[in-house]
Amino acid sequence: MSDHIDKIIFAEVARVLAAVCGRPSLVTHGCCHYCDEPLAPALLFCDADCRDDYDKEQAAKARAGRPG
Ligand SMILES: [Zn+2]
Repeated sequence: MSDHIDKIIFAEVARVLAAVCGRPSLVTHGCCHYCDEPLAPALLFCDADCRDDYDKEQAAKARAGRPG
């Protein structure tokens, strides 16, 4: 019954953590954002390597130009 509220709270916590860590657009979804490995629900990446590679990829995309 409180499942919906839990999801809202979890999303809010994830949003705040992301903002603190400088990743406002990333939301945890149970998989690594870089390699899609299944993860604990609160994690964004498997490890620092995936996080760093993701950051490099995002930086490269930003340099290449954003649509819009
Ligand atoms: Zn990964």
